[in-house]
Amino acid sequence: MKILVINAGSSSIKYQLVDMTNEIVIAKGMCDRVGQQSSTLIYKGKSDIRLDDVKMPSHVEAMKFVLDALVHADYGVIKNLSEVSAVGHRVVLGGEDYTGSVVIDETVMKALYANIGLAPLHNPANIQGIEACKEIMPTTPMVAVFDNAFHSSMPDYAYLYAINYDDYKKHKIRKYGFHGTSHMFISQEVERITGKKDNKIVIAHLGNGASMSAVKNGKSIDTSMGLTPLQGLVMGTRCGDIDAAAVEYLVNNTDMDVHQVTTYLNKKCGLLGISGLSSDFRDLEEEYAKGDKCNPRARLAIEMFCYRVKSYVGSYAAAMGGIDCLVFTGGIGENSSIVREKVVEGLEFLGLELDKKANDTAKRGEMTLFTTGKKVKGYVIPTNEEIMIARDTLRLVK
Ligand code: ADP
Repeated sequence: MKILVINAGSSSIKYQLVDMTNEIVIAKGMCDRVGQQSSTLIYKGKSDIRLDDVKMPSHVEAMKFVLDALVHADYGVIKNLSEVSAVGHRVVLGGEDYTGSVVIDETVMKALYANIGLAPLHNPANIQGIEACKEIMPTTPMVAVFDNAFHSSMPDYAYLYAINYDDYKKHKIRKYGFHGTSHMFISQEVERITGKKDNKIVIAHLGNGASMSAVKNGKSIDTSMGLTPLQGLVMGTRCGDIDAAAVEYLVNNTDMDVHQVTTYLNKKCGLLGISGLSSDFRDLEEEYAKGDKCNPRARLAIEMFCYRVKSYVGSYAAAMGGIDCLVFTGGIGENSSIVREKVVEGLEFLGLELDKKANDTAKRGEMTLFTTGKKVKGYVIPTNEEIMIARDTLRLVK
């Protein structure tokens, strides 16, 4: 069986075709600048193709390019579209309606539209991706895999904000959490590595967007992102945890209105805002390597980033009554030995002891044990959200 995994953004569609007999990705790529004057198709299949200046005025045209590439006589990987058994769509927020993946039908579509208000930046694009596939492949089963589903096991005292309870009930304002497919994948990898299900794991998914979770016995009991992905860690351009009163203060003391403040907190803050240099961790690391000559704001951005991760490790270890395993994943988590070192430094009291050599030589794409302690292990584990989506899709359509 072959499963097509779709991750649709407002101006891009990332895709992978996975052969589920061996979980091998047989084609992947992305459509970029969808809806703009000229768009791009990137395709890696039998051979690598890049089509620039093509017309993808909507997600439907973009999906047609993807499907044409998959069945192309020269570089395609399947003979016709009937070989695609199902399509798994990443959907950012299912709200409280869904605690797991679902086969998409009219009721699900209605719920997705109803949840747009809770995820206005992400859900509309995910819906466009689904509508486009439904139009072109009307008889192929589709599954929605929600980013928040894995975190639906959080207890109420962890997911609630201390606002008036009636307002939570009426407006559904609560912590939902995101990156759920990644956190679930990592927790299953830890189960596989340790050979047991009763683990207390702290997962740090550190990419441009970053979140942490506390996973006890395979279930997420807390996570750092909230109602939206803005909460929690310092991210590439997001501020993470901040006093809500700062919003009114910014409205009153700058020329930004409340909408602009929200955009500012999402797009102009975080590593970018503190360093004044870049939201990209590689640029900050390059600066950091200059030692005494390092730009002080770049150093501060790295220190703030690591301090916040460390604080969550402590918080989640307390929430779970201990920790067996700390996992780093995502672009920064898998690549940055500096971040791992700075986070673990001083956590010997929890049982985390850095193996400097293993940490410095960890390679992206490979699992690495980077601590020496016997009781508590620190791992770098490459995440694979697409495989998780493909697995869930297969499970539901079988
Ligand atoms: P996204 O959240 O967009 O999926 P990724 O998980 O790919 O992002 O992570 C992107 C982040 O990873 C960027 O900040 C990037 O600078 C950082 N990154 C990628 N490679 C390295 C590296 N070799 N060293 C440090 N940071 C890296």
